[in-house]
Amino acid sequence: MNVLNKMVKHGHEQVTMYSDPEAGLRAIIAIHDTTLGPSCGGTRMWPYASEADALADALRLSQAMTYKSAAAGLNLGGGKGVIIGDPRTDKTEGLLRAWGRFVDTLGGRYLTTTDVGTTGRALETVHQETQHVVGLDVTLGGSGDTSIMTGLGIYMGMRACAADAWGSDSLRGRRIAMQGFGKVASHTAKHLLEDDAQIFATDISDVALDKARQMGVTVVSPDEIYDTDCDIFAPCALGGVINAETIDRLRCRVVAGGANNQLATPEDGEELHRRGIIYAPDFLINAGGIINAAAEIGQPYNPDRSRQQTERIYEQMAAVLTTSSKKEISTARAADLLAEKRLASVRGVRNVWRG
Ligand code: NAD
Repeated sequence: MNVLNKMVKHGHEQVTMYSDPEAGLRAIIAIHDTTLGPSCGGTRMWPYASEADALADALRLSQAMTYKSAAAGLNLGGGKGVIIGDPRTDKTEGLLRAWGRFVDTLGGRYLTTTDVGTTGRALETVHQETQHVVGLDVTLGGSGDTSIMTGLGIYMGMRACAADAWGSDSLRGRRIAMQGFGKVASHTAKHLLEDDAQIFATDISDVALDKARQMGVTVVSPDEIYDTDCDIFAPCALGGVINAETIDRLRCRVVAGGANNQLATPEDGEELHRRGIIYAPDFLINAGGIINAAAEIGQPYNPDRSRQQTERIYEQMAAVLTTSSKKEISTARAADLLAEKRLASVRGVRNVWRG
């Protein structure tokens, strides 16, 4: 697999693999960059077709976490944990405790939280084996479910894009097509419905679709979502869905959603730009969850502060749109520049002897 070459290519610091056959655990932790602080990122549990696919996901997602925290102004680095397995059948107490012990071996270089396939309850089990978790339930002194604030941030990002696209940040009457209707999408949808937006959603889970219908969302089939005539296409499931094949099918003015790593390749961000489709960089607008989780590190958790910080995603998205227009670059590139500038400035601080 040539792991070291892959790490060097995108500047990853560390990749650790762990196996506990008794517990059924096969897992990877990727740490991308700890310039700004300990690496932080959720635990993704997914039935990856191969070990190579799991590694590729861990590398991509941990790098995105570095950019996300840097752009959000947090003192955290980028990391990600992946567990190879089906969360519906393999997520036993033994597996989660084994995962917690693995996280603990890194001594705080990696802080974990929830992601696709893991819930707050799973995190509580992981916490029995390690202190290095964030986003625990509020009853346990944590900041709670990350997806609530993630949903708010995406909504703020959508509004900033709307202001740019249509001259008003109101989403009233706007048609939003959501791919995936899990935790993040449903929290985003609450804000959109309050604004009287019209939502179309798809999912592969009947439970998720039932929830969508109960909320008054129109359900479409998984393949139909790309062709849905809409104002905003919101990828809220997995990554890589904006690619050479799907871009041709999109019938929207804005792409803004919660999924990590939506662009299959950087070139897809450029192609959206060329076509005049506004892309809200995923790591910029889905940072609400990490902002909320970071608020519990080293100080008592204050939900009002998290909310205010998350609402600032509106201004950050607006700033990226301004840079994109001034420098005539894509929004994807403009957001990368924002994160890279902050990382470079902190890396450049003189390393003086402080006694
Ligand atoms: P989730 O598991 O609650 O929801 C994902 C949903 O997508 C599920 O309902 C699943 O059935 C559905 N899905 C999977 N494949 C699909 C497909 N091919 N077509 C349609 N639907 C499909 O997870 P979540 O927490 O809502 O996260 C969604 C995305 O947002 C992920 O990419 C995650 O990394 C990202 N994200 C989550 C957070 C957070 O706070 N939870 C923060 C930032 C980014």
